[in-house]
Amino acid sequence: MIKSINPYNQEIVHEVTEFDKKDVENAIDKADAQYKIWKEIPFSERAVLMKAVGQELKKNSRAYGEVITQEMGKPITQSIAEVEKCAALCDYYAENAPKMLADKIIETEAYKSYVSYEPIGIVLAIMPWNYPFWQVMRFAVPALMAGNVAILKHASNVMKSAISIEKIFERAGFPAGCFTNLPIGSKMVEEIIKNPKVKAVTLTGSEAAGRAVAANAGNEIKKTVLELGGSNALVVFADCNLQKTVKTCVQARFQNAGQSCIAGKRLLVESSIATEFTKAFIEEVSKLRSGDPLSEETTIGTMARVDLAEELEKQLQDALNKGGEVLLGGKRNQAYFEPTVVGKVTTDMLIFKEEVFGPLIGITTFKEEKEAVALSNSSAFGLGVTIFTENFEKAFRLIPKFDEGAVFVNELVKSDQRLPFGGTKNSGYGRELSQDGIQEFVNKKTVYIN
Ligand code: NDP
Repeated sequence: MIKSINPYNQEIVHEVTEFDKKDVENAIDKADAQYKIWKEIPFSERAVLMKAVGQELKKNSRAYGEVITQEMGKPITQSIAEVEKCAALCDYYAENAPKMLADKIIETEAYKSYVSYEPIGIVLAIMPWNYPFWQVMRFAVPALMAGNVAILKHASNVMKSAISIEKIFERAGFPAGCFTNLPIGSKMVEEIIKNPKVKAVTLTGSEAAGRAVAANAGNEIKKTVLELGGSNALVVFADCNLQKTVKTCVQARFQNAGQSCIAGKRLLVESSIATEFTKAFIEEVSKLRSGDPLSEETTIGTMARVDLAEELEKQLQDALNKGGEVLLGGKRNQAYFEPTVVGKVTTDMLIFKEEVFGPLIGITTFKEEKEAVALSNSSAFGLGVTIFTENFEKAFRLIPKFDEGAVFVNELVKSDQRLPFGGTKNSGYGRELSQDGIQEFVNKKTVYIN
């Protein structure tokens, strides 16, 4: 059995029997048979079904939100917002996929030459628990609109979300086999990647999982898109709007209890405003309200699993051993970790070097622009960075100096269906969302007619 345990009260939320090898093979065969039908279905019909998925999500956003909250501890208001974001994604791709995948004419000496964007078949998605609906839909919606079919290996602690998503597609009228949930642990993944009917893999999760999956897929010469961890810097210049910056930084770090790949995880603050900023930041963090994640009053939930909270505790201890000091919080009770701010953070500390996947942030100061850029770029990750300044001339000058997949100015790094999303360095490769995302899992077929 694979169990989901509510991290708020440790109760079992859901249990499912794990598929065996034969079950998995049968599911893949069924998906492959469906692919041959689905790829011939016109965009207009796919769009009707996708809009129905959006409707179902909107209509029952509270019920689906509760599934998310019970499985991984996110406050209910944030879970509902996640479900609603998925609904908007369905509408967006239902409307825009045909344009994004229209033939691209390229003038040559031929009678006609162009690129057509054709589906490739079954894509395996290995997904994490932090946004149990969004991470799945972000991949599945464009993939299905492009004519592919999807099989999902979701994180073991959110299998009720996984099954719910499969049912949503069914309820909306998608033929069986278009979207298939496989209740399995990660041991079964290698075998699935080897199956010749599976054409590509996308993974969102840790660096370790990314390395293992990419190695297996590479061996089979199958394409991967990897969206791994991040350690985004929040670079606060003295010429920022302090009040707005403080609020944005708190949201960037503490939403989803800090369990987001694109969360701001390292605060780099210009030393001339460090005292003033730190005081205002701590004040703002103190306003976060913990409590039952199902209550609308709660603004910070528990972490998703006790082991993840224990890991965070170890990272904090390392910082304290090396001279860091707790300015706020620092205590853990089971999966609940107090919103924590650490001062005097240096580059040798794990909370600076590693991904910190929880409600904890360290503050490091810098004296000049060059130093801020170097500190930000010194991370092994490269998902995104936010810089806070009212001087746009400075912002435009600095943007090309950052190594990341995204630079946001005066705004937290966030995913938006209209913009490409993905990283550099150990944060992975490939892009999700926008036209770039939908074109990851297609055969870009060159056609030349003389
Ligand atoms: P994992 O990367 O282990 O889990 C993410 C997904 O990958 C799950 O579906 C998991 O399955 C699967 N998986 C794990 N290892 C393998 C493997 N070798 N082969 C195939 N699939 C695999 O994340 P954790 O839950 O353990 O979290 C650990 C850390 O990972 C976090 O603290 C954070 O730093 C990072 N992380 C980053 C995320 C992001 O959004 N970029 C999301 C989640 C985690 P199963 O659950 O069955 O093990």
